[in-house]
Amino acid sequence: MTDTGILEAWIDGAYRPATTDCFETLNPATGEILAQVRIAGGAEVEAAVAAARRGFAVWSAMTGAERGRILTRAAQLLRARNDELARLETLDTGKPIQETEAIDIHSGADCLEYFGGLAASLTGEHIDLGSAFAYTRREPLGICAGIGAWNYPMQIACWKAAPALACGNAMIFKPAELTPLTAVKLAEVFAEAGMPPGVFNVVQGFAETGQLLTRHPGIAKVSLTGEVGTGIKVMTDAAASLKHVTLELGGKSPLIVFDDAEVDRAISGAMLGNFYSAGEVCSNGTRVFVQRKLLDSFLERLVERTRRMVIGDPLDPATQVGALIGEEHLQKVLGYIERGKAEGADAVIGGKRVTEGALGQGAFVEPTVFANCRDDMSVVREEIFGPVMSVLAFDEEEEVIERANATPYGLAAGVFTRDLARAHRTVAHLQAGTCWINNYNITPIEMPFGGVKLSGIGRENGKAAIEHYSQLKSVYVELGEVECPY
Ligand code: NDP
Repeated sequence: MTDTGILEAWIDGAYRPATTDCFETLNPATGEILAQVRIAGGAEVEAAVAAARRGFAVWSAMTGAERGRILTRAAQLLRARNDELARLETLDTGKPIQETEAIDIHSGADCLEYFGGLAASLTGEHIDLGSAFAYTRREPLGICAGIGAWNYPMQIACWKAAPALACGNAMIFKPAELTPLTAVKLAEVFAEAGMPPGVFNVVQGFAETGQLLTRHPGIAKVSLTGEVGTGIKVMTDAAASLKHVTLELGGKSPLIVFDDAEVDRAISGAMLGNFYSAGEVCSNGTRVFVQRKLLDSFLERLVERTRRMVIGDPLDPATQVGALIGEEHLQKVLGYIERGKAEGADAVIGGKRVTEGALGQGAFVEPTVFANCRDDMSVVREEIFGPVMSVLAFDEEEEVIERANATPYGLAAGVFTRDLARAHRTVAHLQAGTCWINNYNITPIEMPFGGVKLSGIGRENGKAAIEHYSQLKSVYVELGEVECPY
């Protein structure tokens, strides 16, 4: 933020005032304006690329250990600002403060620590060739663009920045237009931790700003978190200069409950996988398949527990369900709920906007469970990105696997059973990038995360992410005589 009160881009280690138009970012729980944010245009993106080029020269010349120390220091600084940043994230996203305080900022810091720790041990390999040998050098790609979705602003920024920077790349990050407030705070933290100017830059704006990045010939890689349609556009634009891409896209994941499952544990998984963050989580298990024998008792207890959930002011520590990201998205979610009812699903709980009291000013919708669903219903096929769970009955293991896979998406899946052989057999057949057994939506930084099919390309987190932010150079070294036929 500068003296003008406008949130400017962060370029070359400082806020960079510009004269382009601004947009307003709103608090989705109240509709109030939180800040005026500058839209980065061509000049700002060019300045960011030039700064990133200079930053890259300095950063990539440092040792991995030096880079790792700065990332680790940044993690500590991020944790020290947890209260302030969690509050800002809650204001911008509408998520309950109990989530942002406990998880969102800390998981960003976990990621900086993890990749900070790995930075010193990024290696190539030695290849013995008899009278010669070869080795590979693991080198950075150059300037990476990170483009974020609005549901986990700080976490997404860290998931992209940490592996990219650990590998020696520079980054230009564009947060989603709906949640632009915290990415620049990460930039402040990096600067305080001693990161050279230009290594991490932030430009805010709309899709056009994102396109300026994905089409820029000076950028080597784009990592996007967003919708499938956006992923296709980004990959198409990136193809013109053969950029590397990581795409973390949408999902419609299955959560399968066999009749020998621990019922309360399975219900916890289904609630976490549908109502956490008001259902605005890409990997949610929104198609809950329950084996027929268990169906009635599962539904009864699920409804009872859902009824107890506390919907409220996101800043109230007791609140478990906050606001959706905004009015437009709320209308989309309500539209799906109406389509579900029209197609014959039974809303056994929820199904309405919250209109009472102060919450009526914001984008609040009740956690909703649809029973008696069929696979062909739109609520079962399409990503809703709201607190809407569809429960479907099944009879046989083979049948449920086939139905679970009958989707163009492949982000995640869950299996609840006490039979471990069945659990492992089932996940082996599920078309999903991440599977959980007897839990749901747990994403430790050490574990690779990403999708198959239309849910994406590449992996974030874990050592696997390193592959996506570095490239190998092979070096052949002759030790013997050189015979030349000419
Ligand atoms: P969008 O696809 O609408 O936007 C994602 C980002 O891309 C935003 O910063 C957006 O800018 C930008 N953008 C939009 N169009 C272009 C373009 N043509 N070129 C470059 N950049 C562009 O996604 P949402 O923000 O609505 O996020 C929700 C989606 O993200 C859901 O589908 C969800 O499943 C997915 N997601 C996936 C995750 C995963 O890890 N697999 C995790 C979290 C969410 P702007 O905001 O200005 O439009």
